[in-house]
Amino acid sequence: MHLGRKIFGTILFLSIFVFVALNGSGPASVSAEASETYDIVLKGGRVIDPETGLDAVRNVGIRGDRIAEISTSELQGKEVVDVSGLVVSPGFIDLHAHGQTNQANEYQAHDGVTTALELEGGYSFVREWIELKRGKSLINYGASAAHGDARWLAMKKYAEQAAALRRVVQTDGWESEKAGPIFAATGGQITNR
Ligand SMILES: [Zn+2]
Repeated sequence: MHLGRKIFGTILFLSIFVFVALNGSGPASVSAEASETYDIVLKGGRVIDPETGLDAVRNVGIRGDRIAEISTSELQGKEVVDVSGLVVSPGFIDLHAHGQTNQANEYQAHDGVTTALELEGGYSFVREWIELKRGKSLINYGASAAHGDARWLAMKKYAEQAAALRRVVQTDGWESEKAGPIFAATGGQITNR
């Protein structure tokens, strides 16, 4: 569990950083209040922020779920993490991530990926898939609708299987084992799983 917490902490931080970067609301001032204590301080990392062009060794002070300070001065924190020798950057967005399990997410997080999107193959029944992931995913996720599946689901030839598959997904859930045989019954050339 320790590893899990550590990973989550890293993800949290990176997500925060992305939020700040995307909103352009990063700290305008670098005047660290010496008396201030941050919840978490990331100390001595190489901070890279493409939006502002910052690429330098800095200390990062986090309060709650926001980056409150980026400074060359020493910052006080309830928890201080020495990240010297490491890069501190916005989380990466992987547009071509077939791995969508929490196990895959762990590896992606170690690579700095905080958003993994399955945009190539996509998934059929995206709404149900999102329901399956909601609140359980270690990092941000998303997928396109699988065009191959969308095509056969719309074909008259497979109307019966398509209806059966919809029923299974909607009543038993996206991961139902009952889905496999239905896919197989369509000839097996059109599965996306
Ligand atoms: Zn691929």
